[in-house]
Amino acid sequence: EQTSLDLEAFWMPFTANRQFKAHPRLLVAAEGMYYTASDGRSILDGTAGLWCVNAGHGRREIAEAVHRQLLQLDFAPTFQMGHPGPFELAERLVKLLPADLNHVFFTNSGSESVDTALKIAIAYQGIRGQSKRRRLVGRQRAYHGVNFGGVAVGGIGSNRQFFADLTPGVDHLPHTHDLEKNAFTRGQPQWGGELADALEQIITNRGAETIAAVIVEPIAGATGVLLPPLHYLQRLRDICDRHDILLIFDEVISGFGRLGTPFATQYFGVIPDLVTVAKGITNGNVPMGAVFVRQGIYDTITQATQNGIEFFHGYTYSGHPVACAASLATLDIYEREGLLTRAQQLAAHWEQAVHSLKGAPHLIDIRNLGLLAAIELQPIPGQPGARGFELFRRCFEQGVLVRAAGDSIAFSPPLIIEPSQIDQIFATVAAVLPQLA
Ligand code: PMP
Repeated sequence: EQTSLDLEAFWMPFTANRQFKAHPRLLVAAEGMYYTASDGRSILDGTAGLWCVNAGHGRREIAEAVHRQLLQLDFAPTFQMGHPGPFELAERLVKLLPADLNHVFFTNSGSESVDTALKIAIAYQGIRGQSKRRRLVGRQRAYHGVNFGGVAVGGIGSNRQFFADLTPGVDHLPHTHDLEKNAFTRGQPQWGGELADALEQIITNRGAETIAAVIVEPIAGATGVLLPPLHYLQRLRDICDRHDILLIFDEVISGFGRLGTPFATQYFGVIPDLVTVAKGITNGNVPMGAVFVRQGIYDTITQATQNGIEFFHGYTYSGHPVACAASLATLDIYEREGLLTRAQQLAAHWEQAVHSLKGAPHLIDIRNLGLLAAIELQPIPGQPGARGFELFRRCFEQGVLVRAAGDSIAFSPPLIIEPSQIDQIFATVAAVLPQLA
């Protein structure tokens, strides 16, 4: 009785969609690790909402900070004047990143962060006299949001159709996921780092002097938790350095403790020039995103401003007081409860639990890193995504929320999860897999 139209209702705000109205999965409350559905059932949150509620739901400290902020200073412009929130927050945030990623541009979402980072990269190249450097490099199967820049560098066909010819010139690296080779890898795949060398080929074809930046998710999240092979990200870094191209990490999912380090940049030991974040920055409680920028880029752009070359960019809600208050309260929780490193302690249990599914019907791959994992289902011929959606739906009925991206099922629970709840997620999936068509 469920159709693929339901799938779309989850991505798009077309809530008038009749299919969705007929079979709603409405969430009406949330606390800790659990949602409450409209029929009163508790649903264990295996996805941290949409990869964002890292400290768990219903955090009183955040709610109170938002309440206090609204009463004290509800809104203030950040053009030509300001308020303390973004300064205090930026100072706290940059301590979580490698040393010279020490300037922050605030946005309201991941999509805005991506477009902001791409614009900063192109503006930076132009300001330093490299005005031919306007091309971008993304990856197949990447997700970087739905604004024009993110659509351009993203690698999902349905996201790009109608728009590809309107967006900046982009080449796409191959994605790093090889089902046959990577099947049932525990942790980071040890092979495939040479896939990064495709960047050399793109550079040869286009000319280094035409390329502004390369953007990658350190781990491609939304399209099914695709892990970078060993040395892959370092090789991208080396190639970018050799050709004077900026490297952007989109850490909208991998940021804020998902891998057991504050950001993926520390996990992989590779430092990009710009980092985009959102989601976990406010525990998903209030819309906010940010772009971290290295000192040299910041200096170049601000010096140009002094010389009358303005990089015109910014949102009404950049550094919104309420978002800043929510984020500061979120950081307090992360730090007080050790959540940015908690995934390290749970990773072994997590890995064992997800890999315990090996041998279950329909399963052709398992991938995991930190508190992130995906299982891959054999697609039903001619009906891609149908089996994945069925698993999602049945798990929901059994009281566990997982995320279906086609036939990839992703898991990214709040970082407060307990081992017994990890077991519950995968016991439910194990029980549901044999029931699938
Ligand atoms: N980049 C990445 C890596 C993401 O995972 C997402 C959202 N899933 C985005 C960008 C877009 O973020 P938003 O939906 O907040 O615009």
